[in-house]
Amino acid sequence: MDKLERSLNLLKIENEIFDYWGKENIYSLIKKKEEGKEEWRFIDGPPYTTGSIHLGTAWNKIMKDYFINYKRMNGFSVTDTPGYDTHGLPIEVQMEKELNIKNKQEIFEYGVDDFIKNCKEFAEKNLALMNKQFKRLGCYFWDWEDPYITYKNSYLEGVWWTLKRAWENGLLYKFYRPQNCCPRCATALAKHEFDYKNIEDTSLFVKIKSSEMEDTYFIIWTTTPWTLVANEAIMVNPTEKYLKIRIEELDEYWILAQAATVALISGQLDLKYKVVEEFYGETLKGMKYIHPLAEEVPYQAELEKQSETVHTIVLSEEYVSASEGVGLVHTAPGHGPEDFEVGMENGLPIFNPVDIRGVYTEEAGEFEGKFVFDANQEILNLLEEKGTLIHTGEIEHEYAHCWRCKSKLVYQATEQWFFNTEKIVDDLLEKNEEIYWVPDWAGERWFKSWLTSLKDWCISRQRFWGIPLSIWTCDNEECGDTIVIGSAEELKEIAGECPDDLHRPWIDKVTWKCEKCEKGTKRRIEDI
Ligand SMILES: [Zn+2]
Ligand SMILES: [Zn+2]
Repeated sequence: MDKLERSLNLLKIENEIFDYWGKENIYSLIKKKEEGKEEWRFIDGPPYTTGSIHLGTAWNKIMKDYFINYKRMNGFSVTDTPGYDTHGLPIEVQMEKELNIKNKQEIFEYGVDDFIKNCKEFAEKNLALMNKQFKRLGCYFWDWEDPYITYKNSYLEGVWWTLKRAWENGLLYKFYRPQNCCPRCATALAKHEFDYKNIEDTSLFVKIKSSEMEDTYFIIWTTTPWTLVANEAIMVNPTEKYLKIRIEELDEYWILAQAATVALISGQLDLKYKVVEEFYGETLKGMKYIHPLAEEVPYQAELEKQSETVHTIVLSEEYVSASEGVGLVHTAPGHGPEDFEVGMENGLPIFNPVDIRGVYTEEAGEFEGKFVFDANQEILNLLEEKGTLIHTGEIEHEYAHCWRCKSKLVYQATEQWFFNTEKIVDDLLEKNEEIYWVPDWAGERWFKSWLTSLKDWCISRQRFWGIPLSIWTCDNEECGDTIVIGSAEELKEIAGECPDDLHRPWIDKVTWKCEKCEKGTKRRIEDI
């Protein structure tokens, strides 16, 4: 028997224990002992491989380790496969910093293949480090040699399988609708990928000229002047009271909500007025106005030809409140979720003259080539010159920012792929009832309320380091046939080839002659 040491050296003891476990290969002995026993399945929610583990990750893994050991000691054969999430923007942004890349275009210049290799190496390096750290925490008897990793082909194919099932069951669709997009990362983001922060913005009151009534203006309020370029309608609440007032000094008539009149006209503007008419919002429906930037954005005239409701008053009881602003809401269906909804109901075209980098396109006329947030001040000045800016103020409000690079997001309509999660909410709720939750309120309240409020999930990103969506479409516009591939083997069968690594850019090179029209070529959509 060895003599006990006089001082307790925990670090030394720890290393000796690890050495012993390693030398005697205890893990494989445990696995051998488990053979043939009843299975207890466990899925590890994977930590992200951006660097050393943090306290939350440690706590989480140790809790899981308790369970694994407990079940193992109770005679079960447990799945102890750890997982790692290695994809996504956090690693891309980290890589961009290290390579001194400033935007998406520079990634193309650098080479997508090298960029992807760098991302993968970065993930591998951190994964090895984290493996060691978890073991040091005592989470030792896990299958550290063979974790599931999101960049492995087997994992990618698992997602492809899911995509194909979703497609076959009508749960996967492409849609043009507004989403929060990060202009710097040049991609759409899902709801859990933006952070709301309070920021100061200029709010402005603008008068918009009626095209039917002489010297008459509709008063609107907005905090995003850049969206005026894509304005298509003005929303009013049909059940609120509105006034037409005469401003003596200006020899003009203004229309706004009764509830906002005194505060704005007598208060902030210090103008005298007389009420000429009083009516409910629904009276205003269909009244026409002249777009406030009609000269600068000639495309607005084109929009007018597309639908009778363009540049008219539309109604929304849900989204207009007279207690906020002036009861008339500037509406740009390409730049807001409510605007989009009301726009669809009223047959407005979904107009978005902004590209994914937040830069105005040709359709924005004089603003083409400008970054939207830079245009804010310019538009403000322009309205002032035109004499239509009646008041400005500062407002502190919540605004969405990119979770990774912290840029202000641009709400804009883009074509994206969605999972139709809303359609399966009832099924999910039913399944939730079958789950044994500990503590019970986590399932009965938290998870249930999360499920109840599920919205369709935007799954496409215009980025590189992620699972390429296995969707191929025909480039012949008349055909446009879409096919969703469920595995590498299936791809090889159809296309005759399949790269060893299923990531971009290699997967993008797989094309084949469209089997439907026999004219076009099937190409992968570029999203991940
Ligand atoms: Zn970003
Ligand atoms: Zn085709």
